[in-house]
Amino acid sequence: MELIYDTGWAEQPAIVEQPLIGDIDCDVVVIGGGGGGMSAALRLAEKGVDVVLLEAKTLGWGATSRNAGYITNSIAADPELLGFLLKRERLRSLYRYAENAVHFAEDAVAHHGIDCDYRREGIVMAAVSKGQLRHARRNAKVMAEAGSSAEFVEGRAAGLPEGFLGGVREGVGGTLNPGEFVLGLRAATIRSGVRVHEHTLARDVTDTGDGVIVETPNGRVRARKALLTANAYSAGLSITPKNLATPVWTSLVETEPVAPERLDEIGWTSRAPMVTLHMIIESYRVTPRGTIVFGTRRVQAGRNPLPERTPAPHVADDLVRGFHERFPGLRDITPQKAWGGWIGMSSTWLPVAGEASDNVLYSLACNGHGFAQAQYVGHLLADRIGGAPLHPDLAAIWHGRKRFRLSFVSGPALYAGWLADRAADRLAALTK
Ligand SMILES: Cc1cc2nc3c(=O)[nH]c(=O)nc-3n(C[C@H](O)[C@H](O)[C@H](O)COP(=O)(O)OP(=O)(O)OC[C@H]3O[C@@H](n4cnc5c(N)ncnc54)[C@H](O)[C@@H]3O)c2cc1C
Repeated sequence: MELIYDTGWAEQPAIVEQPLIGDIDCDVVVIGGGGGGMSAALRLAEKGVDVVLLEAKTLGWGATSRNAGYITNSIAADPELLGFLLKRERLRSLYRYAENAVHFAEDAVAHHGIDCDYRREGIVMAAVSKGQLRHARRNAKVMAEAGSSAEFVEGRAAGLPEGFLGGVREGVGGTLNPGEFVLGLRAATIRSGVRVHEHTLARDVTDTGDGVIVETPNGRVRARKALLTANAYSAGLSITPKNLATPVWTSLVETEPVAPERLDEIGWTSRAPMVTLHMIIESYRVTPRGTIVFGTRRVQAGRNPLPERTPAPHVADDLVRGFHERFPGLRDITPQKAWGGWIGMSSTWLPVAGEASDNVLYSLACNGHGFAQAQYVGHLLADRIGGAPLHPDLAAIWHGRKRFRLSFVSGPALYAGWLADRAADRLAALTK
């Protein structure tokens, strides 16, 4: 299996936008050109704002082009746990936000005419043990009460593969090719009149009180306001609130193409994209190129400055082991390549957005479920920075000026989560 540094979904852009050389002024500077940053910059340009977008590599180079491609209304924390911890109104507002994010991302695909194999097929949070199945029933109930489009489904009836007993089918969203999506959104951003500087790392951001100064290796941007959309990399900037999020490396594996009749034989007749109900999820989906992409399980905490890296061999091996356990009928299918990316994880496992200072707003809408959410939050932050009142969906994740004493996400905690999942797997195998 080849371990690769870039996304496995698409080629990198052939032509790069000019890095920043010299000093420039603008109304708003957006730092970090993932889905969140591009979406924010597009919205600002649409409103006639003079906007500069700084990207350390090329637009979309981070998690946005590397993810599993699920457009999901999941919020990263467990629904049942959220139902226990949060007031009903708060939970409803979170699910309304997440569902609107799905529609926002779908609209972006349509509006910009992006050819990225989007399939509006829903996603199943699938159970691989009786315990997970009971959990799925409870989750479906909590989600329905919170107004989310979700229903409990039995495995056979939903066309899930053998061994997947049933689960919660999200009534919205689906899957796409994130690499192709990024190339399309990047082209739309460049066309829109946003002043894009690629290969331009923001080294330091200072709020002077009457504006913001961003230092880069070969120049400086002076702006009235700034949006910080650097995701896992945000902690590398001193202006970012401390302990807001921990960078976490997440990996994916792609197999060789699988003949459709093999998928029918194992019962995966619906081809529904799935995530399991483990503490740290496993995801399995069939791609339009006929391969299976699977991922997550073992995630690893990192520190800024974040390295460019591939998945660790033992992590990729663990993913393949999981694939063999879940799909014994596909053991002969060869895994071909593995890649990964950095996400930012908040202590609550919920998305966050807020104010780093008077003139700098931030977004960290990810925790592994931010493909649609980061874009939607970027759009809402762009309106907010232009003076709009706090949108109710932004209010659902708004932290204002709140500071964070501690981060509960750490390497040992994530490893403990993986161990607990494997112990639960073993117990389920014994009690089958
Ligand atoms: C392997 C993997 C699988 C995932 N699967 C899913 C999924 O199926 N569904 C889902 O919803 N979510 C998924 N996610 C999460 C999702 O991809 C992210 O939450 C989302 O893309 C975050 O978007 P973003 O714009 O906030 O950040 P990013 O896409 O990470 O963009 C941040 C950008 O900022 C740039 N940058 C960083 N520092 C600086 C700086 N100092 N100056 C300038 N630029 C800077 C980076 O180069 C990067 O391009 C997954 C993530 C990974 C890694």
